[in-house]
Formats: sequence, structure tokens, C-alpha cells
Amino acid sequence: MKRNNMYSLLFASVLVISATASISASAGMAKRKVKPVTRYNTTETAAATQASTQSEEKNTKEKNIVADNGVYHLSENSKYRPYLWKNADGSAPDYKAYVFEPKAFNGHTVFVDPGHGDNNAPEANQKREKYYPVDDSLLKSMNTSMVGSKAYGVGVEARDSKNVYDKTETEPEFSLKVALKLKDLLINKGYRVVMSRTDFNQNISNGARSAIAGETSDIMVSIHSNTGKNSGTLSFYPGDNDYISGDTYPGYTSIMGLTKSNIELSKKLATNMENNITMTTGLKNKGTHSAVIRIFSYSSIPTCLVEVGFADNADDAKILSTKKDAIATSMANAIDQYFNK
Ligand SMILES: [Zn+2]
Repeated sequence: MKRNNMYSLLFASVLVISATASISASAGMAKRKVKPVTRYNTTETAAATQASTQSEEKNTKEKNIVADNGVYHLSENSKYRPYLWKNADGSAPDYKAYVFEPKAFNGHTVFVDPGHGDNNAPEANQKREKYYPVDDSLLKSMNTSMVGSKAYGVGVEARDSKNVYDKTETEPEFSLKVALKLKDLLINKGYRVVMSRTDFNQNISNGARSAIAGETSDIMVSIHSNTGKNSGTLSFYPGDNDYISGDTYPGYTSIMGLTKSNIELSKKLATNMENNITMTTGLKNKGTHSAVIRIFSYSSIPTCLVEVGFADNADDAKILSTKKDAIATSMANAIDQYFNK
């Protein structure tokens, strides 16, 4: 929250909104007052975003998140709100995530994101979310087609196809099963865990996932499985080069306000994931790469996305289906390594 104080000193054009209302707290968590915050207007510049983000990094340990019976709601003054997906009637949905407290908190909060969700959930496929959480005018130099009318989409749609090994699960089902195992492992290690979804009947936009992660957590891990008749594990972190499309977007990370240190930490996290998963499961190490994707565009904390294996490859699919404990354990170990535990 201190980032905003600094921002308001630097830029007089921002709207200052007094948000001193206390928020109801769940058992065991003290009530607190929310400090005054600022809302960014459309003249926000990349440099300003970067300055605010750099200031925020110093405060990650101060995130005393307040959950309402285990549910965290995105703050009313989140700078991402104007860009996030809306209900069909134009109203804002309840952007929320689920908080799990350990018995003895080790001081680190991990946002565990099971990729995608239920395609039939009301939140899915609304296609009313900006690809980038900034004004389109900032993106002209990037030579990207993901602005203007093409800039909208929730980005959480998933294929309904089952894995080719035993046809037991789709990608959203796989990612949720691994995420729930990872959550249990992390809680036992003393981490607080925040999850974007905990059920097969839920969905939430990628922008909202990252916006909530930034408010609640120290790092974010997004879990996916791949398709494309290839084989192996791929891990991604934010960068100007998009490995997935092969395109380069000069200035992407600075326009999004992604700091150099957060990018380096994201790369470290992704590398830890890649190495631990492949060593433990036998999946092929296909490397750690930068990418330009929605959850990175909205991210203000170190974030990685892991494509654990290819669900349309028989060898990979067998591991995805039968080695979830090993996958989750290797991810938990990667997070331990990240925090030097
Ligand atoms: Zn996916």
C-alpha cells in the first residue's frame, strides 16, 4: 500500500480516494484499516507505473491480507479494476480468491493458480477484459495486434479434450488436482496459500487472478498442461520476447510496469519449477522462457506459468495422470528453494 503514497507525491493528477472503512475479518485475523490509496487515471505513464511497482516490492512482507471467511475480495481501488472482465450487464463481478492459513505462518504467501476453469461457469467466455491493463496509446510502439477491438478476451477458455493416456481429465481438471495437492503441501510447510479457484465449477479471468495475487501474495504460480503433440515441461516468466508466438514486443515489460528485479525473480522461480519437475517426474526439460501473456501483464509480483507436460502425448499424459503427487511435491520443493528454505 505504501507504493501509492509515493505515487501521490510524484503525480498530482491522480485521484485520491479515502478508503478507511474497516473490512470484516475472519477468525484469527485482526481487523485493520486500509490506508488511503490512489486510483490511476488515463494519463498514467509507464515510468510512473514502474516507480509505483518498485516501491511495492519493498512491502511484500507487509501484506496482512484480510479474508472474509476464507474468501479474499479484490480491493475496490485496484488500479486493474477498469480493465477487468465485467458481467454481461456491464457490472463488475465479485473478483475473489480463496485463502488457506497454515498452523504456523512462515511469513510467505503463495498464490496457486490452477489454470483455466469451468467453461460453463458464468464467469467464463465473457470476453470483456483488456489484454493489457493500460491505455492502448501506450502500446503503439509494441507493434502488437492485441490492442483495440482485439484487446478483449478473458483468456481462461480451455479445451474440453481429455488427456490421451486414460482420458480421465481435461486441462482445468488436471491443473486443479495438482494445485490442491500443492496447496496442502505448502500449508504443511507453513506457507499461506491463496487459490484462484478450488472447484471444478469455478472460473475467474486471468487479469483478476493476477490482480488479486498482487494484493495478497509474494509469488504466483500458474499451473497448466500443454497440447501440440510435443513432449516435456515448459516454464515461463515475463519478458519482451514471447517464446510461444515467436514475436517480440519491445517495451512490453516496462509499459506494464514489470520491474527488472521482479522479472529476474520470476525467472528464478520458473527455473526452479522447470528443474524440480523434470528431475522428479522424468518429463523432458524443455527449458525456461520469457512470454507475453495476460497473467504476466497484470502481475505486480514474481510470477511463473508452468506447462507441466503435453496432455496429447501418450508418455507425458501418463505422467500427468499418474504422478500428481510427484508433480506437486516438486513444485513445493521449487518454492522452498525460491525462498531459500
Ligand atoms: Zn493452459
